[in-house]
Amino acid sequence: MNFPPRTRASDAIIRNLHAQLTAAGVASGGANRCMITVVVTGDVDVPRRAIISTSGPRVVQGALRTAINNLAGHGIYGGVAYTIVHFSGANGVVNPLNSGMATQDHYHVQGGRHCAEPKALEAASGFGDRMTGMSTIWWGNNANPYPDPSNNPAGIFALPCEVCQTNEVWFMKRVEERRMVSKGAARRAFDI
Ligand SMILES: [Zn+2]
Repeated sequence: MNFPPRTRASDAIIRNLHAQLTAAGVASGGANRCMITVVVTGDVDVPRRAIISTSGPRVVQGALRTAINNLAGHGIYGGVAYTIVHFSGANGVVNPLNSGMATQDHYHVQGGRHCAEPKALEAASGFGDRMTGMSTIWWGNNANPYPDPSNNPAGIFALPCEVCQTNEVWFMKRVEERRMVSKGAARRAFDI
């Protein structure tokens, strides 16, 4: 299983957040630079949920929360249930696997990454819904380090980094296992 693809809905939601952060004049240098990922679940066009995370230990979470609150209740994605992935709290560092994902294969050790995508995917798995889309953007005043070469006129969309891509199948397998447990499928398998 691979990472969910970019969809019209995931792109629209993350574009809206980027536009709001820009309009609000949120700083995009230094410690504020980060990737921002949205994972959407449910219907591919009208998602049930949108789970939003950031990379890095220090991010624009306060401004992002405001932007998400502005999205909720407005427009075609106003009915989506929005969730922001919280900091782990340990030394202010966001651990993408802080809710118990196994760390074999040294997933988050390689390169010392604290990527946005794994955090959003893991958090999304806890709801049990099918994941239908994922989009990531770069929030920074320097060049997007992982620009997506497709459908990216403003240059803000980003691909998962090489560590995430290397671990994609392994990670998604575990995300799917967690999702099925959340969904209750493991119990239903024994039903007659
Ligand atoms: Zn990564």
